[in-house]
Amino acid sequence: LFDVRVSPVRGAGGKRQVLLVFRDVSEVQASESMRRDFVANVSHELKTPLTAVSGFIETLEGPARNDAPARDRFLSMMGQEVRRMDRLVSDLLSLSRLEGQSRRRPTTQVDLARVLRDVAATLTLGAETEGVTINVDAEAEATVPGDRDQLTQVFANLLENAIKYGAQPGTVTLHLSPVERDPVIKGPAWRVGVSDEGAGIAPEHIPRLTERFYRVDTGRSREQGGTGLGLAIVKHIVNRHRGRLKIDSEVGRGTEVVVTLPAA
Ligand code: ADP
Repeated sequence: LFDVRVSPVRGAGGKRQVLLVFRDVSEVQASESMRRDFVANVSHELKTPLTAVSGFIETLEGPARNDAPARDRFLSMMGQEVRRMDRLVSDLLSLSRLEGQSRRRPTTQVDLARVLRDVAATLTLGAETEGVTINVDAEAEATVPGDRDQLTQVFANLLENAIKYGAQPGTVTLHLSPVERDPVIKGPAWRVGVSDEGAGIAPEHIPRLTERFYRVDTGRSREQGGTGLGLAIVKHIVNRHRGRLKIDSEVGRGTEVVVTLPAA
């Protein structure tokens, strides 16, 4: 896409000439349209729970005013919607903070095995209520230069997805293993696989999963409390750590999300 300016000029000897200036604006246009899409998505995602909450309020003020059991039910649904908005805003803040951060790689030494065990411990109770068992296969001590909080967020997001979209009841596994030389990272690395036994993801969706708000099944994601931002955040953090992210999935068998991070 080009922006063209036409201006009449006087050339040498007073000859009339026309100056044409072509400016390539494709990139400007593309980023402008991405920004518009993003604002539209955010507005829509916030509007949906807001509409629900205002509907509940109307019912509570009217028909359900004196109906105690209905009131309890509506209050609990309102709580759910408000928590969804809260998660959405937290995820948006995380993304915007990550984008504003320097591209420099964090350098604190982080023990990945410890991060995995901590994440699993935090999510065990919630997983159990869904009938999901978490396996952590991380014997070795694995040090990587990184940001502990951000790496914790990566594996918490991936584990939450494995629990949400995996088989219920079922097992999800966190598997840590050393890589002698990763061909892309071009050096020693640590590989963490987060796998589930769920329905899997059709291949055409896989390349788009790290886009903001991209979901395979919006209804299912919403029902599970998802914001559609989890994998976008994961991708950002992994890139900042100079690592790589790969999603292997087979429909009907399950999914393994693999994060590979350069070793210390
Ligand atoms: P969400 O908040 O919707 O879970 P994510 O960015 O974390 O957003 O994931 C994007 C989409 O990728 C999800 O809505 C879901 O459709 C799909 N997805 C992610 N992880 C898995 C998985 N382990 N198994 C199947 N589908 C998954």
